[in-house]
Amino acid sequence: TSLNNNTLDALPSHVVRPHYDRTKMTPGIVHIGVGNFHRAHLAWYVHRLMQQGQALDWAIIGAGVREHDAVMREKLLGQDCLTTLIELDPLGAQATEVTGAMLDFLPVDADNKSLIQAMADPRIRIVTTTITEGGYYLDPANQGLDLTHPDIIYDAENPDRPRTAFGAIVAALRLRRDSGVGPFTGLSCDNLQANGTIFRQAVVGLARLSDADLADWIDRHCSFPNSMVDCIVPATGPAELQRVRAFGIDDDVPVTHENFRQWVIEDTFCAGRPDWSLVGAEFSDHVHQYEARKIRVLNAGHQVLANAAEILGVENISDAMMQPFIHALFRKVLTDEIIPHVDPLPGSPVIEYLDLIDRRFANDAIIDTVRRVAFDGSARHVGFILPTIRDGLASGHPIEGLALVEALWARMCEGMREDGSQIEANDPIWDMLTATAAAARQSPSVWLEMQQIYGDLGQHARFADAFAKWLKHIYENGVESAIQLYVEQN
Ligand code: NAD
Repeated sequence: TSLNNNTLDALPSHVVRPHYDRTKMTPGIVHIGVGNFHRAHLAWYVHRLMQQGQALDWAIIGAGVREHDAVMREKLLGQDCLTTLIELDPLGAQATEVTGAMLDFLPVDADNKSLIQAMADPRIRIVTTTITEGGYYLDPANQGLDLTHPDIIYDAENPDRPRTAFGAIVAALRLRRDSGVGPFTGLSCDNLQANGTIFRQAVVGLARLSDADLADWIDRHCSFPNSMVDCIVPATGPAELQRVRAFGIDDDVPVTHENFRQWVIEDTFCAGRPDWSLVGAEFSDHVHQYEARKIRVLNAGHQVLANAAEILGVENISDAMMQPFIHALFRKVLTDEIIPHVDPLPGSPVIEYLDLIDRRFANDAIIDTVRRVAFDGSARHVGFILPTIRDGLASGHPIEGLALVEALWARMCEGMREDGSQIEANDPIWDMLTATAAAARQSPSVWLEMQQIYGDLGQHARFADAFAKWLKHIYENGVESAIQLYVEQN
């Protein structure tokens, strides 16, 4: 039986399902970018409140600004916006829960008309996003809004039919201001350090290009809390579909996730919020420290593993953790070169946090592909690895292993594994990366000359020399040999 409101009662008895009356839900949140992560994280927190009889006026309306989002829309509407979550525990437990906090999914229009209208509705008090780290139009030179990007230029010139999520938000806020509805909160759930500050910059910066008064109004009245989000959520493939079908649930777009979740949010909501602290989220004034720790240890750790694993044809993150030399690389880079730049949270030594991440990455119940983690390296290396290299250069700490990590990324971007098989495009600027990687094989410095990624880092001899040495070693002796050489150093 296919999953929908009418078949909920027929689900196997072990499957937790919504106990609340879904006909009583009213919208409070518009979410842009309904991928897997959103459905395992924010949508779950809202659902859990609803299970306690709360927050029925905070139901989520899904939305997307990319053509491809129409596929997810059709599938979710076909199952009354219900999502099956399967929590995978390393000991083999598979807790299964059908969540129902999503009320509707807006049409995906080229001019974002439906989205603008929905966000202008006075019942909407929060707009949330998971549009990937690369989706915020950051200028790599200064982390400001990239005013030269064609999408930003287009939206500045066409504020009534914008292409980007931010353009749609600006248009909706104009309607809200003009009709006296007032502001909403913009809450980014992407893995960016200071994601709220960056969200504000995108919305206010874009508004300023077409309407300075509106930009001031948004800046003054809207809030953009910073937040740290955490839960490993793989992409759904045939294995995940099979898992859910084995439970007798006919869900076209189920989500699997690890048995860990964390959400720390600044409590600055300009138009109210659900009390997510009742279901495990934490409101804190120290989000920055949580974010910095997570991004530098977990997200950077993923990059340390994924590029080496991709070149060697290792499929999943847990398999990479089982390769002793890859695991040794992970431990040594994190311990010697990253942790010195991470401030501990009270009562929580950073090394204990690293041990937790080590156990989570080793969870082999999760089929988290190296491909997913290695995707969009051009945004992820910039956000997760390069800031630590800058800190290491400034403070005189070692950066040898981090230089090796960058060399592994350059080697991966050549587009071929060591066994000769091809690596499929996995970055929005893949063609440029592949061409640069090919040139860097002869002259490594070419890789670091990509200003939009490395800025002036290539001019630091300590980093550039180490990078060149590692890339040369990788091409001459292979990835394993380079990693062994590094881990055997004192
Ligand atoms: P996904 O591929 O399932 O979904 C990505 C969504 O982002 C899609 O709706 C897509 O249309 C949209 N999108 C992509 N680029 C965009 C752009 N430039 N502008 C607007 N929309 C865009 O991926 P996911 O697993 O849901 O992850 C999405 C983001 O969530 C990550 O990039 C990360 O910032 C955050 N996150 C993910 C995880 C995880 O384990 N999956 C963990 C923590 C945080």
